[in-house]
Amino acid sequence: SVLRKVAVLGATGSIGGSTLDVIARHPERFRASVLTAHSNVAELAELCARHQPDLAVIADPALEGELARRLAASGVRCEIASGHDAITAAASGTLCDTVVAAIVGAAGLDSTLAAARTGKRLLLANKESIVMAGPLLLEALAAGGGELIPVDSEHNAIFQCLPGGRPELARSGVRRLILTASGGPFRGRTRAELAGVTPEQACKHPNWVMGRKISVDSATLMNKGLEVIEAHHLFGAPAEAIEVLVHPQSLVHSLVDYVDGSVLAQLGNPDMRTAIAHALAWPERISAGVPALDLASCAPLAFEQPDLATFRCLALAFQALRAGGDAPAILNAANEVAVEAFLAGGLPFLAIADLVESVLTELPAEPVVDLQSLNERDRTAREAARRILRNLC
Ligand code: NDP
Ligand code: MG
Repeated sequence: SVLRKVAVLGATGSIGGSTLDVIARHPERFRASVLTAHSNVAELAELCARHQPDLAVIADPALEGELARRLAASGVRCEIASGHDAITAAASGTLCDTVVAAIVGAAGLDSTLAAARTGKRLLLANKESIVMAGPLLLEALAAGGGELIPVDSEHNAIFQCLPGGRPELARSGVRRLILTASGGPFRGRTRAELAGVTPEQACKHPNWVMGRKISVDSATLMNKGLEVIEAHHLFGAPAEAIEVLVHPQSLVHSLVDYVDGSVLAQLGNPDMRTAIAHALAWPERISAGVPALDLASCAPLAFEQPDLATFRCLALAFQALRAGGDAPAILNAANEVAVEAFLAGGLPFLAIADLVESVLTELPAEPVVDLQSLNERDRTAREAARRILRNLC
């Protein structure tokens, strides 16, 4: 097989690290040719020393000099660039044929779109970009002629349970997509018990070690809400055909329910390297360093309904999906502001949903026209969220 050149966008993050781990296990198949980070210049330099990419990009331009000094000091010879646009250029440039979109939040949108437009194999972890700009991303993919393989474990599971991974649901006889959710660290709690929870408690996920933003999203169930919208776009499923099922053990990563009553599921240990390895090698299979699943020593698999009255963010995401247009982008922008405020100690946990709801109410859905108007709406939503936040405090 040919050597694939992989751009790891967000290399210093949780998904970035797992990706580099899988790549390093298969040097004959993959090479990390581009590595990017936002501000963690020390870690980026270390990763460059280990993986010897052709290009390293730091999003914060003020840190380019320091990156250059560190790379020179460790004898690494690769191109260096900085700034948001340099990441977008790297995602669409000739140094890679595969792009792992693992930047967190709306900051990943431009590079995700650029990779799609230029026909790369796009491994999508950055769910915020497809939530914000689903129709634009699908258009870019069609225009570029490349392929998107989902890395988000639920969507990767569904992809694996669909014939050929292809999103022709109606013709495939699919009845429902069932997304599993761990329920997060606060599963089973009442609203009263959630009033005073801290960022540290919210970031302590029972099954996964992840970045702080997605950890908070998992605690509010907004992560599952974003994933419902992601599934809608990836697989062409209407809101009515997408269900969420709480499964605290995170061994069943999602299921597809067919009209004949067959339900296909993908199982595995909760380790993102499985989905990443699948997406890197598809349609082949490669080892991921993940131990075999030992079902006999697992507790009986448990499932329950999500508590939408306590975890209101999931209901708000369904509401935004049904509203259509740019409502998901508004939801995402408000949530990013709310999570940042919560992590900074400036917003109570339960107020995350309140803030998102207020912004959705203030800005009724409009059709998605193009990237420019979408970015404008994203800005408007963030401004509205910050204003409401100021009035709260
Ligand atoms: P992390 O916070 O661990 O990593 C985020 C990465 O993005 C870092 O490399 C960071 O650089 C970089 N970054 C942050 N802000 C910017 C910016 N403005 N411009 C450029 N780069 C930036 O996040 P995760 O790895 O946990 O998550 C990444 C994405 O994958 C998210 O969208 C998340 O929802 C999704 N995902 C994650 C899963 C997981 O298990 N972690 C599972 C499924 C999906 P720096 O280190 O320099 O700040
Ligand atoms: Mg997921």
